[in-house]
Amino acid sequence: MLVDYHVHALAHGEYEADQAWLSAFVDKACQMGIIEMGFSEHDEFIAGLDLDIFQKLKMERQSDISLRLGIEIDYIPGIESDLIHKLSQADYDYSIGSIHYIDGWAFDHPDHKQGFFNQDIDEIYIRYAQILLQMVTSRLFDIVGHIDLVKIWGHRPQRKKAVDYLLPVVQAIKRTGMVVEINSAGLRKPVGELYPAGDLLALLYSMNIPVTLGSDAHHPQQMGEGLEEARAAARRAGYRTVIGFEKHRPTSILL
Ligand SMILES: [Zn+2]
Ligand SMILES: [Zn+2]
Repeated sequence: MLVDYHVHALAHGEYEADQAWLSAFVDKACQMGIIEMGFSEHDEFIAGLDLDIFQKLKMERQSDISLRLGIEIDYIPGIESDLIHKLSQADYDYSIGSIHYIDGWAFDHPDHKQGFFNQDIDEIYIRYAQILLQMVTSRLFDIVGHIDLVKIWGHRPQRKKAVDYLLPVVQAIKRTGMVVEINSAGLRKPVGELYPAGDLLALLYSMNIPVTLGSDAHHPQQMGEGLEEARAAARRAGYRTVIGFEKHRPTSILL
């Protein structure tokens, strides 16, 4: 069974999420055999999602697919009290915490990728891991989004492996009981691999940390893209179940 817990119908604010547009995502999900999906708009655009339309669609399509309501939050250290407010604004089934900024630098944005050329790559990984650790220990989120996104443009640390820099984060994930997503968007990026990488996924499995799946679709055509690869990677690592969420309660779904 496939699930897709990382979907942006509003993308970066360029689409209007009327019922026909949301339905296009749901139709594609059903074609791909996805049994549960969550819309997880970025926090800065979430006001554009009409919750009445979402609820109507959820009821109408309940015999085809289970629809969930999530949110993807840009975690920036120090904004915890704002986040508590944001997360209470709607009856979310789950929240994804993600790092898209390192000290104000939008490192995953194509316009700012040159930042990798004038800094030490190991230092970038170290700082990324520190912010991720703060995010995990805030205990504000259900899911860790694209855990090793810092590799997006293909830059690798030299002095240690990425998995070694992320080990304290993984230990904190274990302590806090969070779920890690296997996000297939990396397959569409220069790095050309899933988030997390195979060795990191193997570490997660060895520590009995649960996973879920997300395509990070920003258009109906991307819906579910790469999830078969994500499922195969999960099974190779040893996973036989993934996690779904309803009102922040985790449930196991057979892969
Ligand atoms: Zn993201
Ligand atoms: Zn996303």
